[in-house]
Amino acid sequence: MSVRLVFLGPPGAGKGTQAQLLASQYGVEQLATGDILRRNVREGTELGREAKRYMDAGDLVPDAVIIGMVESELAGSTGFIVDGFPRTIAQAQAFDALLARLEAPLTAVLLFEVPREQLIERLTGRWICPKDQSSYHLTFNPPRNAGKCDVCGTGLVQRSDDTLETVTRRMAVYDEQTAPLIAYYRKQGNLISIHAERPVVDVTAEILTALSERQGAGA
Ligand code: ADP
Ligand code: ADP
Repeated sequence: MSVRLVFLGPPGAGKGTQAQLLASQYGVEQLATGDILRRNVREGTELGREAKRYMDAGDLVPDAVIIGMVESELAGSTGFIVDGFPRTIAQAQAFDALLARLEAPLTAVLLFEVPREQLIERLTGRWICPKDQSSYHLTFNPPRNAGKCDVCGTGLVQRSDDTLETVTRRMAVYDEQTAPLIAYYRKQGNLISIHAERPVVDVTAEILTALSERQGAGA
């Protein structure tokens, strides 16, 4: 089954964690704009050098940069999960235009809902694999071997923007610039809310049930 999904929600809501699990389950591509940007920063590309100052401050990278990046990544793709995009109304409108050109309507937009205190705890305890970008948590989602990625064994690192100060800024940016997308996609009839405060396995189960009901209903 080919799906085209957007994962929407604040930083730390568990979008990346679920996108990785579900992209392999559905056999579709995972497109995480934050992961692509971090890769470019690490490799010191022109895009990475331009994006880094915004990312370090917890601000959004300019729309034109992000839209161009997504267009080239999605060329020729029939199924995908996008995570961390769109983040502004301008990005959502450009994405709609791209999907119309590809004749590839979205299956659904999943809204990950988590209370704010939990988001802070998740982000300040997050450790990621610098190689495959999989995400762990010291207490909520620990790796099998302390400090090592389950998938590839690489040593885990903390993100430089997961400090309390930058996390607070990212929450404010989410409220101002990204939260308006909830009404945007609700109006399109695409939005499904997910109880993302629950444990990882329960969230995965809820998403799978919600999507099979939606596809069963012919939506
Ligand atoms: P996002 O991509 O939305 O920013 P992540 O998937 O990176 O979020 O998850 C943020 C942090 O919370 C990580 O440390 C991750 O291991 C942890 N996490 C993810 N899902 C859950 C969950 N359902 N319950 C508790 N912790 C979670
Ligand atoms: P999180 O989900 O934890 O907030 P991401 O990995 O999605 O983190 O994003 C990290 C940073 O990369 C953001 O704070 C922002 O600077 C930049 N970024 C990622 N995706 C976008 C986007 N779609 N538009 C603008 N900036 C983005």
